[in-house]
Amino acid sequence: MLRYSAHLPLGAIGAEGQQCIQQAHIALVGIGGIGCAVAQYLVSCGIGKLTLCDFDTVSESNLARQILYRREDVGRLKTEAAIDYLHELNPQTRLQSIDRRMNDEEMSALFPTCELVVDASDNYGTRLSANRNCIEHKVPWIMASCIRMEGQIMLLRPDLPANACYRCAYGIAPDTLEDCPGAGIFAPVAGICGTSAAHFALAHLAGHKVPSGLHLFDASHWQWQPLKIGKNSNCRDCS
Ligand SMILES: [Zn+2]
Repeated sequence: MLRYSAHLPLGAIGAEGQQCIQQAHIALVGIGGIGCAVAQYLVSCGIGKLTLCDFDTVSESNLARQILYRREDVGRLKTEAAIDYLHELNPQTRLQSIDRRMNDEEMSALFPTCELVVDASDNYGTRLSANRNCIEHKVPWIMASCIRMEGQIMLLRPDLPANACYRCAYGIAPDTLEDCPGAGIFAPVAGICGTSAAHFALAHLAGHKVPSGLHLFDASHWQWQPLKIGKNSNCRDCS
């Protein structure tokens, strides 16, 4: 417990909250720029079990922002390289991986075993699949994404049916958004979004209130803007 002793005096976390963290299972979808930062904090803080989901291999252009990977990892599966790093970081966390693109059936098998899902993938299609499967199994999840100098983060609570879902917030967006490498991404912005998602995840597990709504980060002007998202009564995923 010495490792986590700085959490114990915190009213928002404390021994009880830390115990909840150490008993929880999180599925992390995507271990790119955001996912690496999320995983690092979840594991360093002693999350009980972490399932890493990513089908990709490490490339040199990942190394500036995907901080779990070293030069020697180029060409390896991200899941394997990440597990090596995270096991060294804190062997108390149980780690497992799924090294292919998950379909609905696999999400539907994995998510009910989790207290929380974090989607740090880089595409709208995966986020919508996560949305549908989290609604089906009433599993809370965190959406975190970034591009250029901007980021977005939201805790979604399908276990509270009056709350908006991801499609309520994004129902009119196209099915494909610009990809990060093409549009560019400033490396620390991915880290800020990832550590923010880790904060939301750990605070939620510890029973601390996490701000609702969609939070937009603009690194150019260094501003966070909260947006209230209302439930769409015609939403085809949650209504
Ligand atoms: Zn909805």
